[in-house]
Amino acid sequence: MTQSAYDIAILGAGPVGHVLALLLARQTAQPERIVLLAGSPPATPALLASSPAADPRVLAMNHGSRVLLESLQAWSGRAADIRHVHVSQRGRLGSTIIHSDDFQVPRLGSVVSYAELHATLQACVAASGVTILYGPPAQAQDQDSLGIRVRQGDTELRCGIAVLSDGSGGADIRREYDQHAIVTSAVATLPRAAWAWERFTREGPLALLPHPLDARAYSVVWCSAPGRAAQLAQMENGAFSAALSEAFGTRLGRLSSQAPRHVFPLALSARRTLVQGRLVAIGNAAQTLHPVAGQGLNLGLRDAARLAHTLTEWLSCPADNPGARLAEFVSARRADRWITAGLTDLMPRAFATRLAPLEHACGAGLLALDLAAPLRAPLARHLLQGFRA
Ligand SMILES: Cc1cc2nc3c(=O)[nH]c(=O)nc-3n(C[C@H](O)[C@H](O)[C@H](O)COP(=O)(O)OP(=O)(O)OC[C@H]3O[C@@H](n4cnc5c(N)ncnc54)[C@H](O)[C@@H]3O)c2cc1C
Repeated sequence: MTQSAYDIAILGAGPVGHVLALLLARQTAQPERIVLLAGSPPATPALLASSPAADPRVLAMNHGSRVLLESLQAWSGRAADIRHVHVSQRGRLGSTIIHSDDFQVPRLGSVVSYAELHATLQACVAASGVTILYGPPAQAQDQDSLGIRVRQGDTELRCGIAVLSDGSGGADIRREYDQHAIVTSAVATLPRAAWAWERFTREGPLALLPHPLDARAYSVVWCSAPGRAAQLAQMENGAFSAALSEAFGTRLGRLSSQAPRHVFPLALSARRTLVQGRLVAIGNAAQTLHPVAGQGLNLGLRDAARLAHTLTEWLSCPADNPGARLAEFVSARRADRWITAGLTDLMPRAFATRLAPLEHACGAGLLALDLAAPLRAPLARHLLQGFRA
C-alpha cells in the first residue's frame, strides 16, 4: 500500500472535477498538492472522435459557464451559438421566444460536445501542475480532526478535504421520471441558424439545439417513457425521422436523422447537504437533474467556482480546520441549487401531465411569458447565469 498526503483530493474527473482542479491550481503556489483521481488516462485526440466510449452528449452552456471556461483557457474551439430559444407545447396553445438582444448579450448560450469539452479540460489540467492519479474508482473513507482518508485501489491518500465529483447524485432525494432521453442528431430541410427549440410533449420534452460539430445539423434530446424510448431507439432511420418530424412539428421543415441513437435513463437525485465534515459534493455528485433546459453542468460549474472561491484563504493554511469555510460554501450554494433543481423538476412533470386544467395552465403560462417581458426576464436570466444572491 502506498501512502501520500495532499491538501485536496478530487474524486471524479468529469468536467466539474476538472474545472475545480484548474480553479484551485490558480490559487495555490503548490498545485501538486491538489490531486485529481481519474479512471483511465485520456484517449489521444485522434482516437477520441471515433472512440465508442466517447460521450455522445452535447451540452448547452450558458453565458456564465462560457465566461468561466474562457477564463481558464478551457473553452472548446467548436461551439454553436444559441441566440434565440423557442419554447412551446405540442397540441396546446402557448409559446414564447427568448432573444439574446433582449438581454444585451451576444448569445444566450453555446452548444459544445461533452467529449470535446472533456478532452480540452484534460489537456488543461495535465498542464496545470495538479497531480493526476489514474486507477479504479476512488472512495472517501474515515475522517478525524486532522484530515480525511481516501483510497484508490492500493493507494491511500491523507487529505485536508475530499471533494466528491463522481457524478453519483446522492440518495437523500430521489425522483424517477419514468422517462429516458434519446440523444442523436438530425438535419432539417428549413434550418434556422442559432435557434434552439424546447418543445413540451405529453411524452416528455423534446429539445433541438444547433449542432456544435456540424453546421447543417441539430442535436436532438428527446425524452419519453422508457418503453417508447426503446422503440424509438430501435427504429429504422426513416421511421425514426418521421416520428421526430411529427413530434416536433413543421417549424424546421422535415427532419431526417441518420445518426446513432443513445439512451440515457433520467432521474432526479440530490443530497440534502453538500458537506459532511471534510467531505464535499459538487456537480452531479451533489445533484443530478432532468436535462430539460440544459442546466446540470451549468449548475455544477457554479458549485466548483464557489467552492474554489471559498477555499482561497484556507489553501494558504491547509492545516487549519476547513469547517467554517465549508459551512459558508453550503449556505452560498443553497438558493441556486434548490431553485434550479425545482425548475428542472417541475417543467417536465407539469407539461407531461394529462390533466386538461394543468395543461391549459402551462399553455397560459407560456402565453403570459410571451406577452410580458418582465415575467420572461427573471427566468431567462436564471437560465443564463444561475441565481445571484
Ligand atoms: C441527455 C443529457 C443531456 C444533457 N444536456 C445538458 C446541457 O445541455 N447542459 C448542461 O449544463 N447539462 C446537461 N446535462 C447534464 C450534464 O451532462 C451533467 O450535469 C454533467 O456531465 C455533470 O458533470 P460532472 O463532472 O459532475 O459529472 P460526470 O459528467 O458524470 O463525470 C463524473 C466522472 O467521475 C467518474 N467517476 C465515477 N465514479 C468515480 C469514482 N468512484 N472515482 C473516480 N471517478 C469516478 C466518471 O467516470 C465520470 O468521468 C445533460 C445530461 C444528459 C443525460
